[in-house]
Amino acid sequence: MQANLSCDVLPASILTVEQAQERILSSVQAITATESVSLLAGCSRILATDVYAGFDVPPHRNSSMDGYAFAQASLTKATSLKQVGIAWAGRPYLDQVELGKCVRIMTGACLPEGTDTVVMQENTRQQALQITLQTPTQLGENVRYPGDDFKQGELLLEAGRKLTAADLGLLASLGLTQVQVLRKPKIAICSTGDELRPLGSTLQAGDIYDTNRYTLHALLQALNVEVLDLGIIPDQPAAIEQAFLHASQQADVLITTGGVSVGDADFVTSTLQKLGEVNIWKIAMKPGKPLAQGKLGECLFFGLPGNPVSTMATFLIFVRPAILKLAGANTAQPITQLATTLTDLKKTPGRKDYQRGIYTLTSNGLQVRSTGKQDSHLLRSMSQANCFIVLEREWGDMAAGSQVSILPFDQLF
Ligand code: AMP
Ligand code: MG
Repeated sequence: MQANLSCDVLPASILTVEQAQERILSSVQAITATESVSLLAGCSRILATDVYAGFDVPPHRNSSMDGYAFAQASLTKATSLKQVGIAWAGRPYLDQVELGKCVRIMTGACLPEGTDTVVMQENTRQQALQITLQTPTQLGENVRYPGDDFKQGELLLEAGRKLTAADLGLLASLGLTQVQVLRKPKIAICSTGDELRPLGSTLQAGDIYDTNRYTLHALLQALNVEVLDLGIIPDQPAAIEQAFLHASQQADVLITTGGVSVGDADFVTSTLQKLGEVNIWKIAMKPGKPLAQGKLGECLFFGLPGNPVSTMATFLIFVRPAILKLAGANTAQPITQLATTLTDLKKTPGRKDYQRGIYTLTSNGLQVRSTGKQDSHLLRSMSQANCFIVLEREWGDMAAGSQVSILPFDQLF
């Protein structure tokens, strides 16, 4: 059930999620630098060039069964054939096979000259070297032909593809040992906040442990990038400035968390204004406004809000697509699916909500329930959830039984 469609027009100072995504993506250029890596290190790397087949695979006619190879024409006269030799995988039978004769053949062995058909061993009776077929055969049965998998000159893999296990197998079937891939993006991360303590230290009154760097590390690992961890930066302009300068020289992207609201200790944006360009966007999204975005020289900058759920949500919705584009990947957009909500969902019109949900596939289709309280400091809600429940900006409360969109996490991290 949709309620309250009255807030369709946003003030000019507030962006929709889609507008912010578009602006971010239009500011990103894909990496062009390439490197050659061993196939063993190629999984999940982004292919830099199109790959064409240098020869037919399989390269030769071979048997798909253990059995006997012969010429089908032999069977016009008899169903019994004389075995004249053996063809092993990797050890071909080199002589011509005459009509009425057969060769014992193993799976993957080359078909000898003069043969065109293989009968499965199970469908024969063997008496010494006399092989009798017990079932009729078709011409070409159990034979695999050169180029069955792919032919010389065919386009096998396109540049921009994220290499899978099967892709690496294809490259190996062509005998390639190395593959040309795009350089990995280097992503610097840091947490800001005087209250943050590193793991292993003792908490004093008012302190909390830094959690955002750990979620970000893991989210970035799922994108197969290089991470430069700048640690925890105190709320001091000089310390923030030093970290930013370091990141801008070393990394393609700098992601900070915290310090982008309008609190007295929020120095991230003022430092960026001094060193580079920054936009502070209020985005009609929950959790997650505001978001800072900009550039430090060539380094892209994202200043994410500090609340742990906001950090994760804004990363997944805005930063992740930007990093994928930077990495040069042709990856598909994550797909939302419709599900029936089993719980009432509280929602104020005006912002697009990414609520935390747990979905299951049942005989009645996809069903989802809320994890409960949705405040952006409740990181456990992200841990319990397996999807976002995406509620459109203009919607209000949704009653149990309504259809909602879900965005499963397994597509994201
Ligand atoms: P801020 O965006 O700096 O105003 O922080 C918003 C809230 O998120 C505050 O309650 C912070 O203590 C908390 N917070 C900021 N950074 C982190 C972090 N790295 N780990 C855990 N909580 C954080
Ligand atoms: Mg702070």
